[in-house]
Amino acid sequence: MIALKPGDRIGILGGGQLGRMLAMAAARLGFDVHVYTDEADSPASRVAARTTLAAYDDHAALGAFARDVGVVTSEFENVPAETAEALVAAGAVVRPNPRALAIAQDRVEEKRFLNSADVATAPFSAIADLQDLKGKLDLMKPPAILKTRRLGYDGQGQARITKLTDAEAAWEKIGQAPGILEGYCPFEREVSIIAARGEFGAIVFYDLCENDHTGGILTRTRVPAQAAPAVTAAAQEAARRVMVELGYVGVLTIEFFLMKDGTLVANELAPRVHNSGHWTIDGAVTSQFEQHVRAICGWPLGPADRLFDAEMINILGDEAHAWARFAADPGARLHLYGKRDTRAGRKMGHVTRLKPRGS
Ligand code: AMP
Repeated sequence: MIALKPGDRIGILGGGQLGRMLAMAAARLGFDVHVYTDEADSPASRVAARTTLAAYDDHAALGAFARDVGVVTSEFENVPAETAEALVAAGAVVRPNPRALAIAQDRVEEKRFLNSADVATAPFSAIADLQDLKGKLDLMKPPAILKTRRLGYDGQGQARITKLTDAEAAWEKIGQAPGILEGYCPFEREVSIIAARGEFGAIVFYDLCENDHTGGILTRTRVPAQAAPAVTAAAQEAARRVMVELGYVGVLTIEFFLMKDGTLVANELAPRVHNSGHWTIDGAVTSQFEQHVRAICGWPLGPADRLFDAEMINILGDEAHAWARFAADPGARLHLYGKRDTRAGRKMGHVTRLKPRGS
């Protein structure tokens, strides 16, 4: 059990925009933030009280970081699970725990875990090499998707397979890395549930989000999602089971495919705040970022009630050059991440538009 006081320091692994928005929410509650990142001049470090710029396997730096903070969290799931374990060994409280990180880092382990928690996923098979892929594809039958087991995000490291002869090209495309073959899900829409669990087991849920992806990158989120109440209840129940099973503390997101028959198929588990929850900064009583800070610090959770109907649009790559147009739009709540370089598809900021509920 821990309870951090205002003035105490929160450690964040990772220096991206999620860390930046976490740091801003932490500051509002009187906390200081210490960012640990291997990226110089990162978006999060520029709003943090302290930064450690070091590799994720630098044990001396990790030890010093562990001693400097009251709790450690992470802002992206690809922080090596060994880093989280080294921090625990150095005496840090790590929330969410290293097991949650390890599961979310490996798409095969993630799906096995989800199935064990009675959460449905696409049919899947672990793939070791090209021969293995050909054999498994014969059994599963296209259409299918081949993804890398690790380090995939925003649609990176995946290849669509529409016929058996696509196997070689798909194996090349994912860099001949250990993979996962998934059956293609002809979904009607994509939705996500964002939930938080406090240190004594209290759970809150945000309203179900509806997400549009282009080329694997989230472009738009709308709340409320067009989904029956039973769908929201099923998503909440899945998140509850996952969090209880993991002894989870913090904000967790599950992305789902909503099928035509109203069933949900879980695609991905994010042990962190999520892009589809950015609307909560402007549209909910407690933002997902404040909620995560509350949870990991042992504070009571805040209400997750939605105040508005909301639409969140990501600002990607060169679109960020239009900041003056967004700034001049009174209907657009503008958030920019302070990234120095623009690259195609890079998340540079977002805009949230709000409407009265049900209008
Ligand atoms: P991911 O990298 O797993 O988050 O996938 C990125 C996007 O690819 C998802 O948001 C879907 O739009 C699509 N996708 C991934 N896996 C599947 C699947 N098994 N069936 C259909 N579409 C998928």
